[in-house]
This record gives sequence, C-alpha cells and structure tokens, in this order.
Amino acid sequence: MIHLKNMWMNGWGSMLKEDFPLLLKEPIVYLDSAASAQKPQTVLESIDSFYRSSYANIHRGQCSLAVRATEAYENARRTVADFIHANTNEIVFTKGTTESINLIASGYAQLLYPGDEVLVCIAEHHADFVPWQQACLRSGATFKVFDVLPSGKIDLADFQAKLSHKTKIVAMTHISNVLGMINPVRKISELAHQVGAKVLIDGAQSIAHIPVDIKDIDCDFLAFSGHKLYGPTGIGVLYGKKEALESLPPYQFGGDMIRRVTVEGTTFADVPARFEAGTTPFVETVGLAEAIRYVQRIGMEKIADHERFLTRNFLDQLQAVSGVLLVGESNEKHGIVSFNIKDIHPADIAFALAQEHICVRVGHHCAMPIHHRFGQELSLRVSFGLYNDESDISVFVNALKKAITLLRGN
Ligand code: PLP
Repeated sequence: MIHLKNMWMNGWGSMLKEDFPLLLKEPIVYLDSAASAQKPQTVLESIDSFYRSSYANIHRGQCSLAVRATEAYENARRTVADFIHANTNEIVFTKGTTESINLIASGYAQLLYPGDEVLVCIAEHHADFVPWQQACLRSGATFKVFDVLPSGKIDLADFQAKLSHKTKIVAMTHISNVLGMINPVRKISELAHQVGAKVLIDGAQSIAHIPVDIKDIDCDFLAFSGHKLYGPTGIGVLYGKKEALESLPPYQFGGDMIRRVTVEGTTFADVPARFEAGTTPFVETVGLAEAIRYVQRIGMEKIADHERFLTRNFLDQLQAVSGVLLVGESNEKHGIVSFNIKDIHPADIAFALAQEHICVRVGHHCAMPIHHRFGQELSLRVSFGLYNDESDISVFVNALKKAITLLRGN
C-alpha cells in the first residue's frame, strides 16, 4: 500500500481528477466544492444505467422493472444508513439539506409553545437559521443565537449560558460553510441532552470531508445533500433517531405516506415513509448510493487527511500574501477558507480569477449573520474536494497575487 504522504507527493488529488470527466474536459481549477462537488464517472454511469435498465416508479408496481427500481431505492437507503452508522428506518430521503431542515422546523413550529426556546449558532447557513426563526415566529417560541470566538471556534461559554431547560432544540452546523471549523458536535449533543433538548446537526459540509458517525455524535437529527457528496442534485438525507422522527408531524401529504384514507380521515404510514410523500427522486438515490460507495472505496479518513493537508498548505501560502483578512482567525480550518483582501472588493478578485479559469465563490455564501459578526459583509471562499491537489493551490495563489497587483495598480 502506498503511504499517504507519498500519495500526496505523487499528486493523489490529480490521480483522482481522472475519475471526474468534467475536470478532465474543462481547463479549470475547481475550488468551489462547498457549493457543489463534481461527479465521478461511476456516479454518472449508475444514473444512466438505472434509466436504461431498471426504470419504473417505486413502491407501486408488480412488474419486474418496478420491483428492481424499488429494490434499488431501498438498497440506497441501506447504503446511506451504513455510511453514517444508522438504521434504515431512520433515513428519510429529501431533496437536500434545506428540505431536511425545513421538514424538522415546520414540525417543530407545531410542537413549540411560547416560553420554549430554540438555540442556533451565529455561523449557521441560512438553511439552518431562517427555518428556525420562522418556526419561532409561528409558535411564539424564542429564537436564541450563540456566538463564535474571533478564532471562529464556537463560544462554548455563551452556548452554555444560553442553554436551559426551556431549550427544546439546538441546531448547529458540523463544519461551517464560511469558517471551515469542525465544531465539537458531540460535546454540544451531550450538553443539550442534559437539559432535555433535541439536537440537529447540519452535515452539509462535513459529510463528504470527514467521517460522520451519528452514534458517536449522538445527535437526534442530521441533514445533508447528495450534490455536495459527489452525488446528483435533487436528493438529500434526513437522519433522525426513530423516536425523534416519530415525534414529528408529517411534512407533506399525498401518495405513499399514508396507511389508510377514508372520507372521515387519514392515518399515516410509519417512519420513514411518513415523510416521503409523492414520487421521490428515486433515481437520484441510486446516484447518491454510488457516490457513497465511491468515497468509501477511497476511505473517509484518507479523504479527511488529504483535505486537511491541502487546507494547511493553502493557509500557509495565503497568509504570506499581503492584506489577507481571514473570516475567523484560526488556522484549524477543514477544506473551507473564506477571506478578504484589504481595500479590494472580493467580486473584483473573483472576476480576475475567473479570467484565469479558477472557480471560487464570492458573496455571503448564504450566511449573512456570521459575515456581519466579523464585520465583513462578503468574502471570497476557496473550498476543496478530494480531487484537488497542490498544483491547484499554486495556480490559485499566483493568480491571486497577479489580481491584487493589477487591482492595486502597482
Ligand atoms: N447548510 C450548509 C452548511 C451549507 O453549506 C449548505 C449549502 O451550501 C446548505 C446547508 C444548503 O444545502 P442545499 O442547498 O443542498 O440544500
């Protein structure tokens, strides 16, 4: 077996680029995997082959195609469950992280009362901030926000000061899509459970980059999207402990989520079917399962090591560039680095980088509160995937220096 260090030196990321047809075809440096990841050939083939060989609607027909399609869908649920160490009846397929969180928050909007509290982190993506704000507005519960430190680490003292027996749910991201910090989710779960609160972890930015084990985190809910995990768009996952899922009212009503419908009323199917109304994106679940097998073949620990190495290397080079202001001072970031360059608008830099075929993200990254907290309303964000390598970093840093010189006019 090749030692990891040698694999890096030999360009592990460049080796894996060959699995991604678009990265081979387009002359680009793709540093925007936090927005969405590129798709490996094997995922593209699994979707194509499903449409060609097994396509029929699931859970409805007796014909061989319908049986094959249903088996593929339920096998995908097993693959997802095994990946995060859950049981199959704890996995709900959704359209993505946003829908997974809305499903829980809209349920809580009916379960919360005035006097109850919801506690979220200031660094949440809008997908894990706004649904809770709205659930509190609708129910009369109080929306509370805990802070992060200047380093970007969560302010545990502030969290503990705001956590109380009134807290019904704590919602927090595993890895912030702006700060890139891995949050102490296990500790948060432990503290929240001591006061009887449920815990939702937004795994959108962790699921493809570090091993995620719900048994270890002991959260009640975990949400993530397929498209950030090298899988297709339109498919996401909501993990929920069985009793936590069972405590929620249905999210949408329609076919497949019922037990019995009469003129007098309707009873609902058991979880997880209760939350999968209508025709689900079942082809996409096959692509998602293939994406999971792909990262499992490489190994989540190796992917995490590789991206940690890239991030450290990148931060070393970035911080040597004059005028760099990181959003969150810490160097302990994982795969995501947001920053500004003093006195230059980040959109101008992103435009200059685009001329050099470098894809990064500019804006507030759907996380206005954390930008505001750091007094930087916008930022440039570089984010890594398993296919990135050191050459991507040097192309980026050279292009950044060139853009700064150009934009400063010296
Ligand atoms: N949460 C985090 C931390 C994210 O980074 C994102 C997307 O960037 C989301 C939630 C929303 O994911 P989606 O748009 O796939 O629903």
